Formats: sequence, structure tokens, C-alpha cells
Amino acid sequence: MNKLDAQRQKEIQQAEELLFAGPQALGFAKGLFQGHFVSDWVMPYPRISAEQQGELDGTLKGLRQFLDESLDPAEIDRSADIPRSVIDGLGRIGVLGMTAPKEYGGHGFSQMANCKILEEIGRRCASTSVFVNAHHSIGIRALLLFGTHEQKQRWLPKLSSGEQLGAFALTEKEAGSDAANVQMQARPSEDGSHFILNGEKRYITNAAIADVLTVMARTPVPGSDKTAVTAFLVTPDMPGFEMIEARMPKMGIRGTATGRFALRDVKVPKENILGPPGKGLKVALTVLDFGRTTFGACCTGAAKTCLQLAIEHASTRKQFNKTLGNFHLVQKKIARIAADAYAMEAMTTITASLIDRGLEDYMLETAMLKVFTTERLWECINDVFQIHGGSAYFVDRPLERMMRDARINQIGEGANEVLTSFVALVGMRGPGMEFKEIYDTMMKPTRKQGFAKAWAAGKHRLGATVRVPEIPVHSPELRGFANQLGRLIWRFNIAVNRALITYREPILDMQLVQERIANAVMDLFAATCVLSRYDAELQFAQRNGNSSTPERFAADLFLRQSFRRVRHFLAGLTDNDDKSVLATANSILGKPGD
Ligand SMILES: Cc1cc2nc3c(=O)[nH]c(=O)nc-3n(C[C@H](O)[C@H](O)[C@H](O)COP(=O)(O)OP(=O)(O)OC[C@H]3O[C@@H](n4cnc5c(N)ncnc54)[C@H](O)[C@@H]3O)c2cc1C
Repeated sequence: MNKLDAQRQKEIQQAEELLFAGPQALGFAKGLFQGHFVSDWVMPYPRISAEQQGELDGTLKGLRQFLDESLDPAEIDRSADIPRSVIDGLGRIGVLGMTAPKEYGGHGFSQMANCKILEEIGRRCASTSVFVNAHHSIGIRALLLFGTHEQKQRWLPKLSSGEQLGAFALTEKEAGSDAANVQMQARPSEDGSHFILNGEKRYITNAAIADVLTVMARTPVPGSDKTAVTAFLVTPDMPGFEMIEARMPKMGIRGTATGRFALRDVKVPKENILGPPGKGLKVALTVLDFGRTTFGACCTGAAKTCLQLAIEHASTRKQFNKTLGNFHLVQKKIARIAADAYAMEAMTTITASLIDRGLEDYMLETAMLKVFTTERLWECINDVFQIHGGSAYFVDRPLERMMRDARINQIGEGANEVLTSFVALVGMRGPGMEFKEIYDTMMKPTRKQGFAKAWAAGKHRLGATVRVPEIPVHSPELRGFANQLGRLIWRFNIAVNRALITYREPILDMQLVQERIANAVMDLFAATCVLSRYDAELQFAQRNGNSSTPERFAADLFLRQSFRRVRHFLAGLTDNDDKSVLATANSILGKPGD
């Protein structure tokens, strides 16, 4: 085995240990890769319980009133600070401990309910929604998920009320997208009572205003010369905690305090370890699943603002003696924003419900949600910007700020390229393992027995592909869409199998192929969420004597456009310019090509 192969094997082994622990129920996205439609996870469209809906309505009412009176997004952007009065207000309403259990001072909300809160904040001010996410979605998440009762009792009440603030510190100079490459060291003290932390973190939201930080650092694995990442609770009053830069000046979400800090021989008691020692990466990935879900909610809120701004301008601004909304090229943009906002909400709701319903593994769905909603929001902002013409460019309007704010979304909490590749590779692992088994069996020296086994395994694998899955919608009007979706899932599964058979292990490095597969499955997931929501709304309307729903056209349009995109991505698997793209890039980068 050469050095490169050995490194690859090591990476695969690490990923296997990290991502695929033990048997789990088949999730929705993994099911799609196998040609299944695991309808239980996505249909009927989830609803917040009546009891919690009442509480949510009350909280939303209070939140809206507070934000109307006290939140000034333009001023937050100008002064690059979120006033303490806003943070305190959010704390009073319960936003900063929304999903923390009531016994620790939280609101005990589900993820679905929490997403409605974040959508409301995301509608108005991205700085504020990112601040809340950094504190609540990821800052205190490891404590909520992995903390012991004693740790929760000690830390959570003040963090839930906002009296104290939290942050999540993973990123370092050498550990950006490559999160596993954390270099911060945590050495155990001789008496075993504490760990001594050394290293630097950068780009950490809330670092300078946080009272408690979840910090990822590398600890020795007992009995070996290896190290593994462990999660620690660190407080800035610990001697050796040094804030290098409290607020790194930046382009967007300027109200958030993004900082750099160093830990120099900081003694952290062993009681501050969160989760099992050496399992910090698993802790971090699970925490980010939650962050990505509320990311979806914030983007949904911002997309709804885009729609509102587009409608207002297109209905009032006149050129050529007509309001802009009369021009088809303007209408096209507005229709697309409406369709995307509808889909973003549906996808966020269903992803949050997977967490609430206890699906063990939702990392594919949260990754898809994050990529899909952040890319769609960027398009929405671009479209509404264009509709507003020159006026959008000036700082007295919200659009230039919204555009600056939105740009981080495609980079933070997992760059979209990294997540796109992740979705394809993790999704393909299931069918890929089966093909590997077939191949390995065929290569067995006792070929007769090998062939018989391979034949059985092959029949099982391909058997899944011959059936078009049934999509169980209730509304007869949606049967046509449901049938189209079923056929596309079937075609997707065939395309995945074909790619695995054609490329085998090199597919692990073929990101252009991975991107098409990931894009196709993201649209299949988005279309499923839209169909589920649309079906529920039609059923509700019909129960109330109406034949249609207010957002019917947006849902129709999304499904049509989404199906068209899936067909396009699948066609691109065989009809593309990949060789030419890579040859061009390699020639420019001075690399040897194939
Ligand atoms: C405003 C802001 C707030 C942040 N808040 C936090 C926080 O609270 N906590 C925290 O821990 N971190 C935080 N981050 C860090 C953020 O998560 C990282 O910036 C992000 O993970 C990307 O890492 P990087 O910037 O080092 O980019 P790099 O890893 O250097 O990547 C640069 C680009 O290269 C491409 N790329 C990288 N790897 C691959 C690949 N495998 N395949 C294809 N393309 C690839 C992508 O296009 C990527 O955007 C924040 C960052 C910013 C800017």
C-alpha cells in the first residue's frame, strides 16, 4: 500500500468510526439512496402539539412586539454591536433557553417550535439570529445533549435565562473545513484532576461576550500514542484565557462579536468534560446538526422578507407607465422567491421534526437543509436586489445589508462544498457497501460459491431498483406530482447504482459526480417536503369547505422546477464537461492532469 492509499484507508476508518456507530433505523435520505421512500418520517406533514402551539403563539406574540419596539437591524449593522438591552429582552422572552428543559430554567420547546422563533428573528436581523444560534443552537447544545445532570444543574439556568452567554469553539487556523484537524492540546495533569489546555481558536461567534465556551481540544488516548478530540467547558475567567481579538471587523452579520482567543496553560477541571473523552468530534457533529436546522429556519425567515420586499417594490415602482410587477421577467423572480420560501419552510419543519421524533441519524437531512436553504436564500436576495434596481445599492435600504449578511451562510457551519460531498458520500455508503460485497464475493477463489452468493446479493440490491416507490398523498389533485416524484426516486437510485458500478472506489474523489448526486437528492428531499406540506394544506382546506390553498401556485411551481432540476442533474451524470473542466483547472493550477 503506498502512502496515499494508507492515508485514504486511515481517513475511511476514522469516518466509519465517527459516522456509522451501530445499527440505526433507515432515515429518509439514506432510504432515497436505496430507492425507498420511507414515508413515516415525512408524511403526514408534522404539526406542533396543540398544547405547545398555544405556548408558541404566546411566545411569538411577545417576541414580535419586543422586536418591533426594540430591534433596529440597521443600527446593529452600523454600530457592529447588538445592544445588551436586546440580549436581555431575548433572555426575558425565553429565546436564549428555548429548547432547554424547564427544570433547568428553559422553555422546553421542541425543535419545530424553536425553528418558528428563529424564523421570526431571521426575518428581521441576521446578526441577531446568528447571535442566538451561536448561543443556543450550538453554544449550549453540547451541554444540553451530553451534559450530566450535575453539569446541567450547574451551568444551564443562567445560560437559559441569558444572564450568561455561550459560544461554540471548534475552528482553528488549521481546522476550518477539516474539523478533525483540531490542534489545541489538552494534557491531563499528573493527579488526573484537570486538563491543561494550550492553543488558539479563531472566528468564534460570541467568544468575547460568552461566559461559557464549549471548546474542542485534543486529548491523549490512554494506552496508545494516539490523540482524539474531547469537548470541554471553558470559562474566560480561567487563568491563561487570553482574548486576542474580541471583534474581528467583518463584511456582514456585523452585530455579532466574532473573536480569536488563546488558551495558555489553562487548567480545566475534568468535571468540565462534555460527553465521553475522545468523542469530541461526534459531539461537535451532533451539535452542528442542530445549528444547521435553525440555519434553515433563519434562511426561511430572510426569504420571506425578500418576498415581502419584492412584492412591495413591484407593486409600487412604475417604469414604462407600468408597475414593475407587470413585466414577466420581474414576475418570474417573484414567483421563484415565493416557491423557494415555501419549500424552505417545509424542509425546515420536516427536518426539525426528525429531531423531535427521535430519529437517531439525521445528519444527511440537516446537511441538505443547510446547503439547500443557504443557496436558495442567496438566489432570493439576488433576485429581489435586481427588482429594486439602483435603490437596492444604497445603505438606506435593507437589501445591501441583507446581501452582506447572507454571504456567510454558504461558508459557516460546514462550507456548502464540503457538505455537498458529504451528502453524496454518506448517502452512497449503503448501496456502495452492498456492491462491494457483491464484488468481493465474486472475486472469491471458490468462484462457484462466490457467484451464487453474488447473484443473491445482486438480486437483493437490484430488486430495490425495479420498483417505483409509492408516495402516499391523500389529495387526488397531487397524485400526478406523487407519481412523478416516485419515478424520479427510482431513476435516482438507478443513477447512483450505475455511478457506483462505473467508478467504484475512485468515486470518493470525484466531486463533480458527487455534486450532481447530492444536488439531485437535495431536490428530491425538498420536493418531498413540499408535497407533504401541500397535501396537508389541501386536506385542511377541504375539511373547511375550501377547494384550494393560498400558496397553491408556489407549491405547484416548486414541484415543477424541482423535478426539472433533478432530471437535469441526473442527465449531467453522463452528459457533462467534467474532463474539460478538470483539464482547464489543472493546467491553470500547474498540476498534472489524468
Ligand atoms: C462570521 C463567522 C462566524 C463563525 N462562527 C464560528 C463559531 O461560532 N464557531 C466555530 O467553531 N467556527 C465559526 N466560524 C468558522 C466557520 O465554521 C469556518 O469559517 C468554516 O468552517 C470554513 O472554514 P475556513 O474558513 O477555514 O475555510 P477553509 O476550510 O479554508 O475552506 C475554504 C473554502 O475551500 C473550499 N473547500 C474546503 N474544503 C473543501 C473540500 N473538502 N471540498 C471542496 N471544497 C472545499 C470551500 O469552498 C471553502 O469555503 C465562523 C466563521 C465566520 C466567517
